[in-house]
Amino acid sequence: MRPHNTNKILFSASDIDARLDTLAEDLAAGCRDRPLVIVGILRGSFIFLADLVRKLHVHGVNPQIDFMTLLSRGSGVETTGKVIIRKDITVDVKDTNVVLVDDILDTGRTLNFAVQHLRDKGAAHIQACMFLDKPSRREVPIEADFVGFEVDDVFVVGYGLDYDSYYRELPHVAEVVFLDE
Ligand code: 5GP
Ligand code: MG
Repeated sequence: MRPHNTNKILFSASDIDARLDTLAEDLAAGCRDRPLVIVGILRGSFIFLADLVRKLHVHGVNPQIDFMTLLSRGSGVETTGKVIIRKDITVDVKDTNVVLVDDILDTGRTLNFAVQHLRDKGAAHIQACMFLDKPSRREVPIEADFVGFEVDDVFVVGYGLDYDSYYRELPHVAEVVFLDE
């Protein structure tokens, strides 16, 4: 890892908690009559998804929940561009509504791949709920249906997002400030 610090907090734990209340409300309002499957993309989505589904429960939403592990990035901050499946879902999504949940929408390659994959499996309707969105970085024309917060083109960690597998446990989102720039 390059020399860096994570002192700059962009979203506090209470900012996140408040935003998730409204996000869950919006998501619940859009839930249709078909069965709902929430698919989290690992590993970055695990904290966001865990908090989100408990807030959805308050609105009477009772989805099936599954995860898939997609890899698109090396160990550092650079993305490799190619997406591969490390672990697939096992819940049958045929004729269901799927909400894909991930930590951040960056170039759009991961989400684009996941949507295509679930379409191939027969999902009737697919929506994306992303904790963060970096619209300035988009390389594939894809947008999320629900977004927690927008961020500028900076590298962020916490609330599930990592730098070299560290910092996922932070209850807030911080910018990684590199000291060798
Ligand atoms: P994509 O470029 O395919 O939209 O996003 C791929 C993945 O890159 C995201 O799911 C996320 O894991 C990672 N990523 C993109 N931007 C950041 C960032 O600022 N911080 C961290 N920790 N991961 C990021
Ligand atoms: Mg990810």
